[in-house]
Amino acid sequence: GADISARNVDALSSSFPLCMQNLHRTLRRDAHLKHYGRLQYNLFLKGIGLNLEESLIFWRTSFHKITDDTFNKEYKYNVRHAYGDVGGDSNRRGGGYSPFSCQKILMEHPPGPGEAHGCPYRHFNLENLTALLQSVGISDRSVLQGVKEDKENQKFHMACNRVFEYVHKNEIKKAKDESIMTSAQLETIVHPNEYFKRSYILKN
Ligand code: SF4
Repeated sequence: GADISARNVDALSSSFPLCMQNLHRTLRRDAHLKHYGRLQYNLFLKGIGLNLEESLIFWRTSFHKITDDTFNKEYKYNVRHAYGDVGGDSNRRGGGYSPFSCQKILMEHPPGPGEAHGCPYRHFNLENLTALLQSVGISDRSVLQGVKEDKENQKFHMACNRVFEYVHKNEIKKAKDESIMTSAQLETIVHPNEYFKRSYILKN
């Protein structure tokens, strides 16, 4: 099985969809994320199997410019709340919040200046989106052109799936040839956690 632990998130992040790679890179650059970024990323990490103990280690070590006191006062509660470790009875019973779907990320709380949450295919302008894709290693011109057209047509999922298929083209071919994945399992991805899961299955 996968080693989903705080110290492994950097390595795992290459299998994350662009929204989560952007949050991860921003977190590493600034040693901080604003509220909705923390929420979106924390729930995604919970969804890939990072447990509460490891999540607290991850956030504490990532916010390395602040003191333990500040961390405990301002950030710890929200991390625990998302896992259902604190809060009202229904939150505890329900195990906290569910990871956000693409639909939710695309439609709710568009990011403002200085915020890194949201979906880059939707919320970045084309120039910044292209720069982000290139910085994660996607410089193929036909892929970038396809993403541009998907964005213009507001088909943000299509852009994300296009990038997924490009990044995993060898693994997808192999999986199809060997019937490891059925075509149902290769349908359009509509959840960031599904993106990770599928990437992880294909690469391992
Ligand atoms: Fe993330 Fe979904 Fe946007 Fe892909 S389409 S970057 S998984 S929000």
